[in-house]
Amino acid sequence: MSVIKLLPDSVANQIAAGEVVQRPSSVVKELLENSVDSGAKTIRLIIKDAGKTLIHVLDDGIGMNKDDLKKCFFRHTTSKIRNSKDLYSLKTMGFRGEALSSIASVSHMSIISNQENTKSLGYEIKLEGGEEKLFNEVISSKGTSISVKNLFFNIPARRNFLKSDNVELKHIIDEFHRISLINHEINFIFINNDNELFNLSKSIFKERIIRIFGNSSKQKLIPINEETDLAKIKGFVFKPEYSRKTRSAQFFFVNNRFIKNSHLNHAVKTAFEGLIQDKLYPSYFLKINVPLNSIDVNIHPNKTEIKFDNDQSIYAILKSSIKHSLGQFNIAPTIDFDNNINLNTPYSYRNKDASIPKVDYNQAFNPFDNLNKPVSLKTKDFEITNSKDFVKTDQFKNELEILKTNSFPSFQLKSKYIITKTSAGILIINQKRAHQRILYENFLKDLSNKTNPVQTLLFPIKLDFNSEEIRMLNLLEAPLVHLGFKFNNFGSDNIEISGIHPFLNQKNINELFQDFLRNKDYNQDSAVHTLNDLIAKLLSKYSSISSNENINVKLQESLVNDLFACKDPNVSPFGKLIFKLISLEEIIKIF
Ligand code: ADP
Ligand code: MG
Repeated sequence: MSVIKLLPDSVANQIAAGEVVQRPSSVVKELLENSVDSGAKTIRLIIKDAGKTLIHVLDDGIGMNKDDLKKCFFRHTTSKIRNSKDLYSLKTMGFRGEALSSIASVSHMSIISNQENTKSLGYEIKLEGGEEKLFNEVISSKGTSISVKNLFFNIPARRNFLKSDNVELKHIIDEFHRISLINHEINFIFINNDNELFNLSKSIFKERIIRIFGNSSKQKLIPINEETDLAKIKGFVFKPEYSRKTRSAQFFFVNNRFIKNSHLNHAVKTAFEGLIQDKLYPSYFLKINVPLNSIDVNIHPNKTEIKFDNDQSIYAILKSSIKHSLGQFNIAPTIDFDNNINLNTPYSYRNKDASIPKVDYNQAFNPFDNLNKPVSLKTKDFEITNSKDFVKTDQFKNELEILKTNSFPSFQLKSKYIITKTSAGILIINQKRAHQRILYENFLKDLSNKTNPVQTLLFPIKLDFNSEEIRMLNLLEAPLVHLGFKFNNFGSDNIEISGIHPFLNQKNINELFQDFLRNKDYNQDSAVHTLNDLIAKLLSKYSSISSNENINVKLQESLVNDLFACKDPNVSPFGKLIFKLISLEEIIKIF
């Protein structure tokens, strides 16, 4: 006897519903997308009790005629594709014909639709658990109104699984953001329990972002603009200092559809590297347009994940366009030291026009194959001065001279922090992190210098390792030699060091090599600059002053100046906050 049976439609729909409808916000997403597809100019979203009691979406789009209304809630009914070829040239949000049937099967649904321009007779259909209960003629205006009541009334397990109203509302707002941001040419109104949460009139993209994320976001936005044959990227990122603790302001819209893509997210993250703390997320609103046939949207029931043909290239384009824009905007903090009346702006770059960031280390430099050849440095405009104090570039010499003649008001707190004043308030600097940042940027430069000075050790240091450790350390030999290390022997079970970079404290050498071994993620395949980055980071860690070290006023001054001459004075090479400004306003508030 055959045991295989076709599932009844109602069961099949409920199973499909599990994929499409996880919570009220999924219903909101599907209904809003249908309204967008309908060509609506205005879309209204009304919910009660975070969508648990009611989700109602009204639009003034194309509407449905009697026949379509009778069919739209069947599974795989869609007006948006006719054949499988259409799948590769989709411009609409929906196309699987699953949403209405899935939602209908787990709720009480009512649809009113009318295709006429004037208020006239349209049709209404009422469904319970996907079963038609009523079909009527009703007077209505153009467009479609779909209300979904008592979601999951027939699946108590699902209903019980729903979170508090606050949490469910948060999910709905997230969906609303995603759809209303990209469809900024549509008016959106969103009412929750009779409170109007959003009333967004048609506008340009930037304006929509500001309307949704508040007026204060105006000054946070940096525009991104890139056009290549593979992709057009347009949009905005928030300046690094406005990064958030959550991912709540991260938006990719590929061909006008919100998508999640961890690979592209990584591209943005790396573009921000060194500019924001480890635990914060950059905010971005990016429209990426690619040829319709170069993506596959159909890999996920919610259609929020897509596959690109040119994954790697788009990654590279995205990363470089963001880096470029970040560089064009002065992302260094604007700090005015007011200890000198002649010196309103002690740092010459503050008044400079925005410019492309200076690449002052050569990322392409490969110490492995260039060891004996002279290295050509494309964009080098400074001479390195390997002095032992903190001053490394000429750029700020003039200001420094002036500062020196006027006693620099700074002191140390607990041998750990440097406190100084600026016209904006009191600046507290973590001395160790500041020094690490300065050294880190210097080591990166040094790695692309032709030669570097060596500090010869009086007594060579011998370190023992096993053969596996030696194999890993071998990779470091060339770049370290380039940085001024001298190895008498790089043997099979030990290395002997007779010279080191002048900044490095020789008592930390063993610890440094142990740390290299702990950071196993470098390998031959990884990009050279990743290895260089690690070397610069660890050397800065073991060369810096400690957080318990007395330094005199002159060194405090140099440290502060060198810090703000860095490309990124905000965070240490390990992503930790370097300084905090207590503003005058904050001080005034205290009293
Ligand atoms: P899909 O959007 O994948 O086509 P749905 O189940 O969401 O599938 O919708 C089924 C069909 O119902 C759509 O293809 C469309 O023809 C019609 N429809 C749904 N919502 C609307 C609306 N708001 N306005 C006009 N037509 C609609
Ligand atoms: Mg749909």
